[in-house]
Amino acid sequence: MKSLIIRPGVANKALWNPTRTPRWQWEKVRKAVLERDDFTCGGCGHRAIKGMNIHHVDPGSDDSMTNLVPLCTACHAVMHVGMSLQYGSVEIWESAIDQVAIIRATRDGVRLGKSLAAVKATFRLRRGDLAPDSVEYANRMLRGMGDAPWAALPQPLCAVFVKFKTWQLAD
Ligand SMILES: [Zn+2]
Ligand SMILES: [Zn+2]
Repeated sequence: MKSLIIRPGVANKALWNPTRTPRWQWEKVRKAVLERDDFTCGGCGHRAIKGMNIHHVDPGSDDSMTNLVPLCTACHAVMHVGMSLQYGSVEIWESAIDQVAIIRATRDGVRLGKSLAAVKATFRLRRGDLAPDSVEYANRMLRGMGDAPWAALPQPLCAVFVKFKTWQLAD
């Protein structure tokens, strides 16, 4: 099973609107990827039958099995942090706790009925050089990435969930 390092990142703009496999065919590929990896997130190891996303390891239109990995909704939101910042789902903070640990701790907290604000307060976060909700974090990566297919924020910057509902708590 392929495992990905989960970091807040953006895909190169040149790869944003690739030719997509037709829907009926995509559904078959999607099912095959999920079954191959037993419905388990390639980032944080969360397993859920419902709502798993399929992520392109190399962004673009390569829909071959080797380029696809299941990600939980939370890991996927981190891997496409530009969109998540636009939706207001996450903020960017410096954190001593790594990204996957933040995702796991947040999911566990939500499962126990804690609010995202209460979970966030346990992380001892420090502000980066921009406002935590600034989309500029993503824009800066897009401007500076050149021909790279994907760029990520440097550690210790992490995405912290502030408005996110799809935690896939039940099968
Ligand atoms: Zn995950
Ligand atoms: Zn993706």
